[in-house]
Amino acid sequence: MPSHHLAEKMKNLNLPSPIQSITFQNQQFFLKRDDLIHPDFSGNKARKFYYFLQNDFPNITKIVSYGSAQSNAMYSLSVLAKMRGWGFEYFVDHIAEYLKENPHGNYRAAIENGMRLRQAQPPFLELVEGKNDILFIEEGGRQKEAEYGIKLLAQEIIDWQKDQDIKELNIFLPSGTGTTALFLQKNLLMLNAERLTLVFTTPCVGDKAYLQKQFLELESDEKYHPTILTLENKHHFGKLYKENYKIWLKLQQQTGVEFDLLYDPLGWRVLLAHPEVFSNPTLYIHQGGVLGNESMLARYERKYPSINLEL
Ligand SMILES: *Cc1c(COP(=O)(O)O)cnc(C)c1O
Repeated sequence: MPSHHLAEKMKNLNLPSPIQSITFQNQQFFLKRDDLIHPDFSGNKARKFYYFLQNDFPNITKIVSYGSAQSNAMYSLSVLAKMRGWGFEYFVDHIAEYLKENPHGNYRAAIENGMRLRQAQPPFLELVEGKNDILFIEEGGRQKEAEYGIKLLAQEIIDWQKDQDIKELNIFLPSGTGTTALFLQKNLLMLNAERLTLVFTTPCVGDKAYLQKQFLELESDEKYHPTILTLENKHHFGKLYKENYKIWLKLQQQTGVEFDLLYDPLGWRVLLAHPEVFSNPTLYIHQGGVLGNESMLARYERKYPSINLEL
């Protein structure tokens, strides 16, 4: 893609992303709208892949990555590849027949952006043509380059916090790999020595021990680790919990904002169960992902056709 087109695209990134005040369950929160960064390249994947949008990679012609066939990271990488004029090969270990025959959500959008989907087992790079021109991205964008864009997120929050004269701010965001929460806490502590800004998170994909392990792999110094909060019951990623559906509907009803259906429902449930967090001004980070709602919402509506929000 000619570079002036890319420059044009990047100018359209809505940064710093806006912060608004919302009221949910009679409690006031601030909301960082990273879901509004760009219609296609939004949320925490835009932050995590920002490095690959901003820097020059004269030898790269192709992105190779792997993961699930409906992931937000897969879709965002398809947008990044398209913006940069690169190819994109994505490996899955399986894909549901239904999805193949009825493409929807992140999968359809990524295919439309030119993604080549391949079904195979690792190691993937042996299966790909060309060796030196490949940019390999770990599942979910869990890699050190993610810090580049998340540092900018930290700086945006610090500038806003100073502007609002908030001495002690608490931040909440739900985690998958924990990359965003970890780099956010680390950079807030490094860049904002005179104010206290703590990051709280919850594991949506694995359990607390899994998330701690992820943090340690990215940063050995535990003073930079976010605080992990959980509910008592075990939670399985992608499972249709009535409580998750309910809180998602309530969020929409009370705030007018569409949240993601995979991470945010658990995130909000955990946050509401820990009122000590919102004893200080609290900023919730909306990390995007709403394109993936299409498939989840259809499944929820089939499972709970007449849900009652009062109960
Ligand atoms: C990827 C993603 C997450 C998890 O981010 P991690 O950095 O892996 O913890 C959370 N919310 C949404 C909407 C996402 O797309």
